[in-house]
Amino acid sequence: MRYDAIVIGGGLAGCSAAAQLARHGHDVVLFEKATYPRHKLCGEFLSPEVQSSLRTLDVMDEVSALGTAPMTRARLTGPDGTRVEHALPGTALGLSRYRLDELLFDRACAWGTEGRPGTKVTAVTGSLAEGFAVTAGGDTVEGRLVLGAYGRRGVLDRTLDRPFLQQQAPSVAFKAHYTGDLEAITDTIEVHAAPGGYCGIGPVEDGRANVCWIGRTDALTDAGGTPTAMLEQALYENPVLRDRLRGWTRASEQFEAVSQVPLMPKRQFVDDVCMVGDAAGMIAPLCGDGMAMALSAADLVAPLADDLLSGRRSAPAFKHAYETQWSNQFGRRLRVGRWVHRTAFHPTTTRALLTACRLLPPLARWLIRTTRG
Ligand SMILES: Cc1cc2nc3c(=O)[nH]c(=O)nc-3n(C[C@H](O)[C@H](O)[C@H](O)COP(=O)(O)OP(=O)(O)OC[C@H]3O[C@@H](n4cnc5c(N)ncnc54)[C@H](O)[C@@H]3O)c2cc1C
Repeated sequence: MRYDAIVIGGGLAGCSAAAQLARHGHDVVLFEKATYPRHKLCGEFLSPEVQSSLRTLDVMDEVSALGTAPMTRARLTGPDGTRVEHALPGTALGLSRYRLDELLFDRACAWGTEGRPGTKVTAVTGSLAEGFAVTAGGDTVEGRLVLGAYGRRGVLDRTLDRPFLQQQAPSVAFKAHYTGDLEAITDTIEVHAAPGGYCGIGPVEDGRANVCWIGRTDALTDAGGTPTAMLEQALYENPVLRDRLRGWTRASEQFEAVSQVPLMPKRQFVDDVCMVGDAAGMIAPLCGDGMAMALSAADLVAPLADDLLSGRRSAPAFKHAYETQWSNQFGRRLRVGRWVHRTAFHPTTTRALLTACRLLPPLARWLIRTTRG
């Protein structure tokens, strides 16, 4: 076999898993369809627990040098002006994916991964018993293990005929960076709910704010079909959000956009391909924990895959250990996250939840704790 491990997708999960396997001495190739640096749709809120994964990758100094924006508080508001503020369980960081993903890709390569940016994987065949063949950029490479770290939904899900595709996920999301008076969000991540969606606002490097919103597809259509119209017509029904964005200017040349955000359960193995990060299961954006989960899943799979590739663990034992540990670690937070996400889409349930959290601070603490590691 040419490679011990073939990693598909150079986001957070893929770069981290590739880096850790290469560091264990395995031959690893990492395919990423885009080139770096590139903007990516994300709230860019790195929750406090991310820091242990960044330390594993030995990139904390580089991350700090990029000028991350620290956050220790969360503020949530509803369309009727109800608001709750709560301390975060540690210091979160705001950092753009433009910077972060390139940093992690470089780390993977520095630790010995053969990085192939600008190369899209179009097919995977094989098994852990027989080995895999992966078609990428007109080339076919062979490997003993394939990690699918290609994100929430992609062409490979169709090729692999994954059952979650049969369920609709009729949502759209947009993101852009803004400049303006950011004093109100110094040290704070905000989530503003509105009928049919919610919008997260947080500071990132270079004195900018990330504004990222998600909503039902029909909220976009009703507003006229453009991201700005959706923000102004649908989400501006929240008065705090309206005030916050007054006087801010869009600094990004264009909006990043995605459609179909699948939060339903997925399988961690498909035809023996081991899924990591969003490809294995995506947490609701409102929880601000997707990046931490992607990095934690890489931390989880790397030692198990090292055991497999070194002959210390059989293929069935590898699959069993990963599936079991994955659901123990992430199952509950995904379920609670789905519930909170649905709640935030409806003004009445949003108001009820925010009021309950204000009157019962232990409930807010429980929700924050349960939707993260
Ligand atoms: C609206 C919204 C807001 C969010 N806000 C936050 C937040 O504030 N904080 C947070 O922690 N999380 C947030 N998330 C979630 C977070 O973005 C994801 O959970 C995280 O990016 C998952 O990392 P990943 O490595 O699994 O996938 P990704 O980061 O999506 O990386 C997958 C990579 O695979 C590549 N790829 C795809 N297909 C192929 C292919 N066929 N061949 C080669 N390469 C391929 C892609 O180009 C991409 O680079 C948000 C998500 C959404 C939708």
